[in-house]
Amino acid sequence: CKIDKDEKLGPNCDASITAINNINRKIRSDLVGLVQTDFFKYFKFDPLKKCAIWENNDGLCFSRSCAIDVVEDWDSLPAYWQPEVLGGLSNDTNSDTESLGHDNDVSFLNQLCEKHEPLLPADFDEEDINYYDVTDFTSDTAVLVDLTANPERFTGYGGQQAGQIWQSIYAENCFPADDGQEQCLAKDGFYRMMSGLHASIGTHLSNDHLNTETGKWGPDLDLFMARVGNFPDRVSNIYFNYAVVAKALWKVKPYLKHLDFCTDYDNDVKSKILNIVSQLDSKIFDENLMFENQVDSVLKDEFRKRFKNVTRIMDCVHCDRCKMWGKVQTTGYATSLKILFELDESDELSMQRVVDKLTKFELIALINTFGRLSNSIEAINNFEKLYNKRMDNN
Ligand code: FAD
Repeated sequence: CKIDKDEKLGPNCDASITAINNINRKIRSDLVGLVQTDFFKYFKFDPLKKCAIWENNDGLCFSRSCAIDVVEDWDSLPAYWQPEVLGGLSNDTNSDTESLGHDNDVSFLNQLCEKHEPLLPADFDEEDINYYDVTDFTSDTAVLVDLTANPERFTGYGGQQAGQIWQSIYAENCFPADDGQEQCLAKDGFYRMMSGLHASIGTHLSNDHLNTETGKWGPDLDLFMARVGNFPDRVSNIYFNYAVVAKALWKVKPYLKHLDFCTDYDNDVKSKILNIVSQLDSKIFDENLMFENQVDSVLKDEFRKRFKNVTRIMDCVHCDRCKMWGKVQTTGYATSLKILFELDESDELSMQRVVDKLTKFELIALINTFGRLSNSIEAINNFEKLYNKRMDNN
């Protein structure tokens, strides 16, 4: 399927695929370096958080027999290739943090970064402006994981349970009936973000796929084409998500000096972030078109509520590694949306409410989500080369 790479990605998105490819090329090495720094590589999530969507989530399918069709003979494969193992979390992660004496604890991260709480007026209105569930990071059963030790890749997770999760996610895109242009753009934006997330995951699992005949990990062009490459809208939605997150980062640029990343790492981390944001352009995405000028509109509240539900749906995912990356990315998008829709640059109080109150886990999720999208874009360009080579040889 052909896709026009120079066409704008949408009415609220001035950038084209070509333009985003160019940006991505310029920032890639800093971004890859950034997600490997101590500050950005640890994330906190709660693998045991109860699924609030279905009464009996335990009964849903996550066994070999209902794993996806790409591997048909799970039973004949070695134990270390089974979906339960591929989708599990690395033991190294736990021992890493345990050996430091910080098991299941954020004190390790706290040491890396002392955050100064902003002084807010006594009558400050603490209304919830979050697009994700903040209890994700406060529960007793939440664990600290090293994202670099648990790469997002093929896990064998699939079948009925994964299908149901995706169905529930898309079902959240059901706003009250209205024919207005505003509603259309909000609804369209919501759908594109979900589809872009889905396609980005599909790209990673195809790019880092286990060939069960050779035992090697690597790109699987056929799988990529079947999941993403044959659908120009899915490819375009990954780029759309890149534009959304890039604009959120662009928008916090003037406030970066307020953010303390932590003592030793501060300068290196800050300079990488500054290099990245200096390559971004405000025109990449126009958030003001999503809800027109109705900043406090009912529609925006509905959007926030539905997005928060998507982050909660992640608790129902039965594959720990998929759940972890699902949480990272939905929290990263949620953070982008909070910056885009709740930060009014002309209002100092709004700056305090949004930017000064960003938690380290929101920042970690934001940067890692951008890193995931950057990887997807790199992989898409590599898959294109593989595809063209195949065509040339035919
Ligand atoms: P699915 O991907 O389950 O899709 C279901 C249906 O949705 C498709 O039939 C199609 O009609 C539609 N659809 C597919 N893609 C799109 C799109 N981009 N936009 C709109 N509609 C679409 N698997 C791994 O191997 N590694 C992972 O890290 C991983 N992480 C996951 C994280 C989450 C939160 C979830 C829910 C699943 C994850 N999975 C992961 C599983 C993976 O996403 C697929 O569900 C699985 O590979 C089965 O794929 P499928 O072809 O059956 O269709």
